[in-house]
Amino acid sequence: MRSAAQTIEEPEAMAGLPENVREGLVERFGARARFDEPLWRHTSFRIGGPADAWVEPEGVGELAGLFALAHRAAVPVLVLGGGTNVLVADRGVRGVVVHLGGGFQFVDWTIAGEDAVVRAGAAVPFKKLVYDAVARGFAGLEFGEGIPGSLGGGLTMNAGAFGGEIGRVVEALEGVHADGRVEQLARERLTFRYRRLDLPAGWVISAVRLRLRRGDSTEMERRVARARAQRKKNQPLGFPNAGSIFRNPPGAFAGRLLEEAGVKGLERGGARVSELHANFIVNRGGATAEQVRALMDEMRERVWTRSGIRLQPEVKLVGEW
Ligand SMILES: Cc1cc2nc3c(=O)[nH]c(=O)nc-3n(C[C@H](O)[C@H](O)[C@H](O)COP(=O)(O)OP(=O)(O)OC[C@H]3O[C@@H](n4cnc5c(N)ncnc54)[C@H](O)[C@@H]3O)c2cc1C
Repeated sequence: MRSAAQTIEEPEAMAGLPENVREGLVERFGARARFDEPLWRHTSFRIGGPADAWVEPEGVGELAGLFALAHRAAVPVLVLGGGTNVLVADRGVRGVVVHLGGGFQFVDWTIAGEDAVVRAGAAVPFKKLVYDAVARGFAGLEFGEGIPGSLGGGLTMNAGAFGGEIGRVVEALEGVHADGRVEQLARERLTFRYRRLDLPAGWVISAVRLRLRRGDSTEMERRVARARAQRKKNQPLGFPNAGSIFRNPPGAFAGRLLEEAGVKGLERGGARVSELHANFIVNRGGATAEQVRALMDEMRERVWTRSGIRLQPEVKLVGEW
């Protein structure tokens, strides 16, 4: 069951995929529907068991049809973008994992004077949009330099860094309901919070409309270069990871609390807390989701004991635990 607000997204247990759903997927999607697809291949952590089905729709019609089919059969659906903010269970995901295909990779610019309205598909890599905007001289996305993943994932997570976040430039979202209805959500109906967007349950984002203002190109390029240098210095980019594991609690930094609690270098099998950044867990080879989860439990426990603060995961634990 997909919900942006939940930490653990756990589909109801079901024994495999109903035969009619499997047949329906093959009929509609052909080779774009795969079964028992290993999800480690699709996550930046390189961790995760199989999805019952992995489907790549190419347009809103196909996406809506897929949701309607799954809804009628009560089969849970999970949307995965770049897989850069998830920890997928070793047992994998029951039901259908949807990954938006190339048909959701369009970017259309409408420029009027000092304003630009950008309509972009949810599968566009966030980084691509950042570079496009800077190259065209429009400000507001430079903070996104180095944030991996898709636009859809970035919107769902209200991705941000260095004081900026994507929610600030959003005008409207286009998407599909859990039952297959296509719908637009205007800015007034969207509540972006810290690393979170409250969407109707089961809603999938198919496209977004952003508004950007013309900026000073030199200043924008400087901001991008600064962000790049900061990441290079502070983040363990050499091993698979999922970015920050825990959210910053109000008024504090999770990384600092973790560092003070002495978690750097802690290990469970192939999973290790980075020496460079205490809020990153790296997969040094063969780490399992259970090992990462055990490490997360120990990190939380140590911070709780030392500071009395309960850290909340930023990474989404998905699948059958
Ligand atoms: C090295 C590294 C650095 C990072 N730095 C940052 C950072 O500075 N700031 C930051 O905010 N994040 C950061 N992240 C985390 C991550 O990159 C972002 O949260 C990113 O925006 C997630 O996008 P994704 O496509 O990978 O989402 P996924 O991991 O695929 O999914 C994340 C969540 O979004 C949902 N989702 C995905 N696509 C859609 C859609 N189309 N419609 C509805 N729901 C959807 C998924 O179901 C899941 O719940 C970092 C990660 C890494 C690995």
